[in-house]
Amino acid sequence: MEEPLPEKLSVRDLDVADHRVFCRVDFNVPLEEGRVSDDNRIAASLPTIRLLLERGARLILASHLGRPKGAPKPGLGLAPVARRLGELIGQEVPLAPDCIGPEAEALAASLSPGRALLLENLRFHPEEEKNDEGFAAQLAALAELYVNDAFGTAHRAHASTVGVARRLPRAAAGLLMDAELRNLSVLLTDPAKPYAIVLGGAKVSDKIDLIRNLMARADRILIGGAMAYTFLRARGIDTGDSLVEAAQIETAASLMEEAASRGVALLLPSDHRIRAVSEGAASEGRVTDGETIPSGWRGLDIGPKTIEAFARALGDARTILWNGPVGLFEESPFDTGTRAVARVIAASGAHSVVGGGDSASAVRKFGLTSDFTHVSTGGGATLEYLSGMTLPGVEALSNVGP
Ligand code: AMP
Repeated sequence: MEEPLPEKLSVRDLDVADHRVFCRVDFNVPLEEGRVSDDNRIAASLPTIRLLLERGARLILASHLGRPKGAPKPGLGLAPVARRLGELIGQEVPLAPDCIGPEAEALAASLSPGRALLLENLRFHPEEEKNDEGFAAQLAALAELYVNDAFGTAHRAHASTVGVARRLPRAAAGLLMDAELRNLSVLLTDPAKPYAIVLGGAKVSDKIDLIRNLMARADRILIGGAMAYTFLRARGIDTGDSLVEAAQIETAASLMEEAASRGVALLLPSDHRIRAVSEGAASEGRVTDGETIPSGWRGLDIGPKTIEAFARALGDARTILWNGPVGLFEESPFDTGTRAVARVIAASGAHSVVGGGDSASAVRKFGLTSDFTHVSTGGGATLEYLSGMTLPGVEALSNVGP
């Protein structure tokens, strides 16, 4: 067994009454015509925000939005977010016109307990992404305590995720961050067995480190999606015109060898739903008999035999991690495999975790979010955490205990 991960201070255990609290959130939401078109990310931090306000914190919220490249950019300001947040928490949320400087300082200083202020987009300053010391000091000067609820940016050592945390005496995980760390750390430390991992999506290269790190713990690894074709090719199977990462074929072969030598069952698709390259998006394609895909055709989903085999491998699992759709789930009927996998995991009763990104969107699309133990809000951060890397934004939080 490896060393346990250090337990981080939770916002629940932070004495916030009357104190100015700098809370890093992930309000990087889509905007359409000056309005928030999907407020999922705001909603995800509401429990933390409500807890802080109920306990009498003077709350200073900070986030990035989009990629303004270090300068103020019209269309990437947080005014629509402040409006939406105000509606959700039932109080008007003022927006500081800049995240640092005299106006932000005056607004922060005059905040009453139980009231919130939102700072303008952190990334309007190039110093944010450089974790610049002077910039971090200016942000830290606004507050007395630090809370980070932005798990999705915890893999970046920025001023608002690391610099400010280090400058304030106590740095706690928000409820969302805390839930992410608790649910994801189970997958790294003490998973109930059998432990199955389902991987999909387009790119093998994104998931190599994760496979290597989890291979020592997992009992079964199920691979679908476009990344499966690279593994099939490594086994010498024809994949027609499917997406293959030629540069990763050797790596796929070595991962399969490692799985075999560790006694980890590695399942690849035994049939596919394919579409001819010459056919348009309206075509439903056809299902192959076996694992081979003819030339001129492209695999876009796992087939029915594979769905059955995956369902068998997941049925008795007690821990399941799922990362990446097993097909082109944005287009019917190539969403069939992903929907089936989502349903099987949802019904399994296992500690079930969806590792963010496209698989989280798929679970939302199928209306199954509440059937999973945890749907991660991180993309890159989740992959890095599960690959065994230390996330700077997590490391910067105060440890609990001696
Ligand atoms: P990733 O970002 O690597 O997790 O890839 C997710 C994307 O992979 C989604 O947009 C899926 O539609 C796509 N995808 C999954 N399976 C396939 C496939 N067989 N062919 C093409 N795209 C796929």
